[in-house]
Amino acid sequence: MRAPRPARLRRDPRGERVLQPRPDGRVRVLRGEAATAAGSPIVAGVTAATAPAVPVRTIEQPAYLVLVVPDAIDGRLSAQDRDLIGLGRAMADADGGAVCVATFTAPLEDLGTAGADRLVDLASAGDAPERRAAMLQACVAREHPRHVLFPESDWGGGDLGRRLAALSGSPIATSAWRADLATAARRAGGGTREVSMATPLILVVEPDVGEAVTGERYEARIVDAPGAPDLAPRVVDRGLRPYDPQSVALEEAEFILAAGNGVSDWAAFHALASALGASEGGSRVVVDAGALPRHRQVGATGAITTARCYVALGISGAPQHLQGVSACEHVIAVNVDPNCDMMKRATLAVIADAQAVMHALLVLCRDKGG
Ligand SMILES: Cc1cc2nc3c(=O)[nH]c(=O)nc-3n(C[C@H](O)[C@H](O)[C@H](O)COP(=O)(O)OP(=O)(O)OC[C@H]3O[C@@H](n4cnc5c(N)ncnc54)[C@H](O)[C@@H]3O)c2cc1C
Repeated sequence: MRAPRPARLRRDPRGERVLQPRPDGRVRVLRGEAATAAGSPIVAGVTAATAPAVPVRTIEQPAYLVLVVPDAIDGRLSAQDRDLIGLGRAMADADGGAVCVATFTAPLEDLGTAGADRLVDLASAGDAPERRAAMLQACVAREHPRHVLFPESDWGGGDLGRRLAALSGSPIATSAWRADLATAARRAGGGTREVSMATPLILVVEPDVGEAVTGERYEARIVDAPGAPDLAPRVVDRGLRPYDPQSVALEEAEFILAAGNGVSDWAAFHALASALGASEGGSRVVVDAGALPRHRQVGATGAITTARCYVALGISGAPQHLQGVSACEHVIAVNVDPNCDMMKRATLAVIADAQAVMHALLVLCRDKGG
């Protein structure tokens, strides 16, 4: 019999990074070899937890503004929103400009660390897209930004950009996958051709184009918003309608509770999915065993998901399964094995019995009236 292998220690990538102050007050984040090479006793070993507060960068008289309009659903920035603001940051830093973020949700707290010099709160426009576009048009007329950036996403940012272009007669590049102050490139012909052009006023930018700002902090100074437009919207907001999360295809689901071979209490699993309002998913093993229907399988031979939150209960993280969660924003893994691959992929790893965690969450949901 072979001797058991000693347990592997997990890396803490955040603990390994070094924050190096720069002469201009900004902080450079060093990782890997660069962090080791920085080995000065003053900076080496300074982790996020022990680092001094990052100084706020202020730009008083920018040469121009880059206006960024993130989706910011529920007042939170998505990874795509952060990348978009990062792209705006690069376009502003290239020639002495500043980034102004316009938001239609409640003002966000972390816009400064995301890279915003200015913040304009357009919440008084309400939800109707015509009113939002009109308010943005007023904002553009007043601030004269050099460029206005929107995310090409499922959340309406791209639609808003197109509306603004139609309303103001401004040039626009949609599905832009590269942009700087001089040129932009967009896909055309169903993605078969690339079109380059002088960067237009309005850009609707594909995911993963910019790079999110890290280790720096900007002022996010609030500037006055234009008055709400006097416009009766043709699109009427009738409020949110509850929907059955199990009727949503896994490819579309925002919140997935997924089970693997480590789940044995299926009553608790279904009850928890219902209490959390999550769509159910699972590994191929549980689907093959008949515990979940085939269309609930996540992975290479199942659904490729893009959920904002993916909770993996008792799933080992085989490569075929991980292919189905690579685009998920937050992955929470619950597993008794701290060294399994699902734990390595997770944003939050819970080393515990899946049944115990499900029961504890059900109690919490009940206490909160869920
Ligand atoms: C061609 C091919 C295509 C495939 N396509 C897919 C696919 O699309 N999707 C997919 O999922 N798989 C796919 N597979 C199968 C894949 O290789 C794995 O076998 C499968 O994903 C494993 O599922 P699992 O993690 O649920 O089970 P296991 O590998 O058995 O892992 C169970 C996990 O649960 C943990 N555990 C056990 N008890 C508990 C407990 N009480 N509490 C918490 N944790 C516990 C264990 O530590 C372990 O990590 C494919 C395989 C092949 C060959």
